[in-house]
Amino acid sequence: KPVILWFRKDLRLDDNHALAAADLSGRPIIPLYIKEPAAHSGALGAAQAWWLHHSLEALDGSLRKRQGRLVLASGEALDVLGALISESGAEAVFWNRCYDPSGTAIDIRIKHELQKQAIEVSSFGGQLLHDPSRLMTGGGTPYRVYTPFWRALEGAGEPERPVEAPAKLRLAAQLPKSERLESWKLLPTKPDWARDFGDLWTPGEQGAREKLRSFVEDGLDGYKENRDYPAKQATSLLSPHLALGEISPARIWDATRGLSKRMPAADILHFRKEIAWREFSYHLLFHFPRLASDNWNARFDGFKWRNDDDDFAAWRRGMTGYPIVDAGMRQLWRHGWMHNRVRMIVASFLIKDLMVDWRRGEAWFRDTLVDADPANNAASWQWVAGSGADASPFFRIFNPVLQGQTFDPHGDYVRTYLPELRELAANYIHRPFEAPESVLDSAGIILGQTYPRPIVDHASARNRALAAYDVTKHAV
Ligand code: FAD
Repeated sequence: KPVILWFRKDLRLDDNHALAAADLSGRPIIPLYIKEPAAHSGALGAAQAWWLHHSLEALDGSLRKRQGRLVLASGEALDVLGALISESGAEAVFWNRCYDPSGTAIDIRIKHELQKQAIEVSSFGGQLLHDPSRLMTGGGTPYRVYTPFWRALEGAGEPERPVEAPAKLRLAAQLPKSERLESWKLLPTKPDWARDFGDLWTPGEQGAREKLRSFVEDGLDGYKENRDYPAKQATSLLSPHLALGEISPARIWDATRGLSKRMPAADILHFRKEIAWREFSYHLLFHFPRLASDNWNARFDGFKWRNDDDDFAAWRRGMTGYPIVDAGMRQLWRHGWMHNRVRMIVASFLIKDLMVDWRRGEAWFRDTLVDADPANNAASWQWVAGSGADASPFFRIFNPVLQGQTFDPHGDYVRTYLPELRELAANYIHRPFEAPESVLDSAGIILGQTYPRPIVDHASARNRALAAYDVTKHAV
């Protein structure tokens, strides 16, 4: 009798513990992906929907190479599983756990319901290096501060080695009927805003392994220093692959073992610490499921956001008049991704210079990032806002001109995404509004026409934000 292998945020055959266990059980496997209603699985952003489409195609391709295919079904997971169990006579369902609130709730409910029907259910880890319920402080409480969390993670010993994809799979000879991927309409129609995504991305586990390989070969050496410079393309670009589980953190960790003879240990350590930040975000979300909707620090509940719709629209469109902010927002639109340093700058600008509620920024990122991740996105927005666990203090307000000058000193990043500023000299590229008329003229720029004037004056906006924060401070 078959076992249903339910794929969730683990769209891979490599290091897939549920798959390995299903294979070991000797039963024929029915590989299944369920498109669940948004209300239960969290709204799927448009950019990630594009990714999901291609990722499911890739997974189906890998299964076809093994004489199988992926069964697609939509609906409530419990209903779909129930129907498939009756149709196929399956006696077991295996899957890898999700750690976001809706994923966890669904896990628990399905386990409970299927066990009542005497169906064998087994769930496995693998989305994280460590199960959030296991890595706790000595007092049995969750970690709220990153550094002790990192120490605990180091102290927990090396993560388990990844398991290889089975060379052969015993897939069920009679696979149930599948829905058509096209009918899910995950791709944009008109206009096709994702037309440039393919320049940077190859969804699927092959694409993920290739990104990992090239990063270990070319990017990891020097990562600690280079990772802050958006023009350098010095980071792994693994985040969208991680978001849908096309690669496991254990596989990434494993690729960084035994490299210290080839490159500085500090680079390897720094990269591992970033993987640990993802881990930390998930542990926070697991223990504080309202991370995406509520301020971690309740002091911010009384903060008087301005929430001006025109400001928010200018930010989304990359039309604020601050080139580093605008370049970041246009990179996001063009490639569904933004460099980490620039994410911090644009988030600080939205929250502090424009005083727009961080939740609106979080929602925009969720819709436009191919790597939109319930834990990392919410934790990072709260980190910038100052409302999060172990957050950057609110009064640390990035100056967009200085940030640009420091991290994009020649303006290469800005020029890539803002062609209208391409001819502007490096000393004005981050502050066109201070350039003399003659400099603007020779670069073909007319402020207010070819490129906007700043929508706020940073110095005054900074004071305005600090004053609002002060009121909040005294209110509690
Ligand atoms: P690398 O530098 O190669 O890092 C490797 C991996 O480590 C990443 O793929 C990611 O999983 C993890 N990582 C790296 N930096 C961070 C970080 N600061 N916090 C947590 N994990 C990290 N990341 C997401 O995956 N999804 C999101 O939705 C998301 N939203 C963000 C929103 C804001 C406002 C900010 C400031 C950051 C956000 N990040 C998010 C974190 C970070 O920007 C991205 O993980 C990183 O840019 C991905 O690029 P990379 O894979 O090349 O990173």
